[in-house]
Amino acid sequence: MYKVVIGLEVHCEVLTNTKNFSSAKNTYTNIPNINVMPVDLGLPGILPVVNEEACRKALKTAMALNCETPDEIIFDRKNYYYPDLPKGYQITQVTKPFGRNGHVTFLVNGKEKTVDIHQLHLEEDTASLEHYSNYSLIDYNRSGIPLMEIVTEPCIYSADEAVAFLETLRNIFLYLGVSEAKSDKGQMRCDVNISLMKDTDKVLGTKVEMKNINAFNSVKEAINYEIKRQSEILDKGEKVIQETRRIDEDGKTYSMREKVDAVDYKYFVEPNLAPVKITKEYKDTVRKEIPELEYSRIKRYLELNINLEDALTLAKDKDISNYFDEVIKNTKDINLAVNYLTIVILGSLNKLNININDLFITPTMLANVINLVKENEVSNQLAKNIIYEAMEKNIDPLEIIKSKNIKQISDEGELRNIVKKIIDESPEQVKEYLNGKEMVANFLVGKVMSATNKQANPAASLKLIKEELERMR
Ligand code: ADP
Ligand code: MG
Repeated sequence: MYKVVIGLEVHCEVLTNTKNFSSAKNTYTNIPNINVMPVDLGLPGILPVVNEEACRKALKTAMALNCETPDEIIFDRKNYYYPDLPKGYQITQVTKPFGRNGHVTFLVNGKEKTVDIHQLHLEEDTASLEHYSNYSLIDYNRSGIPLMEIVTEPCIYSADEAVAFLETLRNIFLYLGVSEAKSDKGQMRCDVNISLMKDTDKVLGTKVEMKNINAFNSVKEAINYEIKRQSEILDKGEKVIQETRRIDEDGKTYSMREKVDAVDYKYFVEPNLAPVKITKEYKDTVRKEIPELEYSRIKRYLELNINLEDALTLAKDKDISNYFDEVIKNTKDINLAVNYLTIVILGSLNKLNININDLFITPTMLANVINLVKENEVSNQLAKNIIYEAMEKNIDPLEIIKSKNIKQISDEGELRNIVKKIIDESPEQVKEYLNGKEMVANFLVGKVMSATNKQANPAASLKLIKEELERMR
């Protein structure tokens, strides 16, 4: 058995109006080569300009990942030639990136895990290539789109941990609003580095790098395939070659090339861009924009005795979590709040295919209804129906309750009278009950409910029905 060691390099397109170093639009379009300025084509005599929005979002992400952030950032040139890189170099960061030495904590199958972040830097995306049988096409729309790269330390030990980390990272991007992070659009993709070692080994094994994997499921597949392939090599007493591989549709990985060393890129500071100072005031304002993140919310919900599954559901989406937090500011019944949110509200959002912010029912409206249920003023079933009706008609549920005069009947005297009347009208059922068929009591509850337009409190009705029937023995 070998210990699996994984390090990830995650690329994520930053959501901005314009590109990282030009004023071309940063929007997705399927018309090729329309979002292109001379800088993106690498035409001579053109100078890049730094995009403040991209920098701000990179800084914010670095902070959210608990990184140390520098007092100034510097851009560097990474030199290599490829048809998707018309300048012959990529502007990136090595000397002073936005963040170093961070960490992020999350849950993997219910257990806490922390991944150390080596660094976060900002760079530019390349153009995209489309290959045909005897020619290739280049689309420069993607050339120069701001790209954040997050490099982890080799401290991830399974495919499950890797996927949970990627999901956490995506969630942080969405919470911060720094990227849409859609992997099917290539907005989030990662390189997976993986090596194996024996428990007794003091140094890490030789790593293999798998480039540009989009889907998280493919990350899992690639890792599991490599564990098998590398184990077989080591079992035979042979050595793993340090190389770059790609994953194919069959879920297997294939060698692309032996690994290029950093020195081959001949990095140097980008002479066309001055260092950018980041003042303490600037950092403070950016830090204030960071909302409470998913993991902190999950922990807060668990402390309220919400079960893990519901805590995960509530914290997954910032808007839903914010909505829930507003609901529980206005009601003390956490259980009912969780139940109404995860079942009634989330169910309706799915059905109506809308965002929670577009929902007519506000958190206060929902809390008001929950409070009436808690005080036995309205039955659970009726309350749910009223919420559905309120959503359909865009009316405050309290108004519906008022207009229909449908407060739950819990008053014992009032209920007992109704129960007695129902028992009088049901001699057959009374006989059955007295002969030992006690289930009949539930049938009588049903009758009480219909006689009262579902306003009777079902639990109280059952109790009274049994009392009255027992008295007849
Ligand atoms: P390189 O110089 O080859 O680019 P780095 O040290 O910069 O390698 O690391 C690149 C990525 O590979 C990082 O995410 C790091 O965590 C990971 N990594 C480094 N060494 C190993 C290893 N032995 N096994 C698995 N991952 C590794
Ligand atoms: Mg490296």
